[in-house]
Amino acid sequence: MRILIVEDEHRIANTIKKGLEQERYAIDVAYDGTSGLDLASEGLYDLIILDLMLPQIDGLTVCRELRKKQIHTPILILTAKGQIQDKVEGLDAGADDYLIKPFSFEELLARVRALSRRPKNLLSEILIVEDLELNTKQFEVFRNRSSIRLSSKEFSLLEYLMRHAGKILTKDQIINHVWNYDADVLPNTVEVYIRNLRKKIDHPFKNKRQLIKTIRGFGYKIGD
Ligand code: CA
Repeated sequence: MRILIVEDEHRIANTIKKGLEQERYAIDVAYDGTSGLDLASEGLYDLIILDLMLPQIDGLTVCRELRKKQIHTPILILTAKGQIQDKVEGLDAGADDYLIKPFSFEELLARVRALSRRPKNLLSEILIVEDLELNTKQFEVFRNRSSIRLSSKEFSLLEYLMRHAGKILTKDQIINHVWNYDADVLPNTVEVYIRNLRKKIDHPFKNKRQLIKTIRGFGYKIGD
């Protein structure tokens, strides 16, 4: 899950970034409306957290412009004002939810969870592919009831594959949704992570079906 934070107050932006990174999200930050709009327009994000009062272009305009460009990424608005008028305008501009500053990180996280899984049948916090089970809230993975320890990136990669079970995902799609722009992503990074994942979720289960499949020339998928 990759999230863009558009917030000019560095302290708030960095606190949210750190907190969400601990929750295994890949985070990019824009500190003004123009770069926020540019980044968001690429359509790579699963969620945008958008402050309203921003330098250059304000948040409501960013929101409207994105919807005009047919970018339908869920948007969570942050507003310091908390006036009913702002909320209505934000939702009218195409935002999906709002949060009034100051807010607790737990509350932000709950909204982020709700919004980032809204587009699919992702209401459940537990993703299942055959006998492989991933709990997005407890950060636990089990296969055939035995617990599997994954690094934080391996977990994000597996979650992304499982949320799109049965679908072929290209390396570019995987990189765009699992890593942020600051990450050192080399051409073979995805292969390396896939190999490590296989060592943990497939290879120890020799008498079971191997779940991660390489589709030569296209990418990877998990499950049928
Ligand atoms: Ca602001």
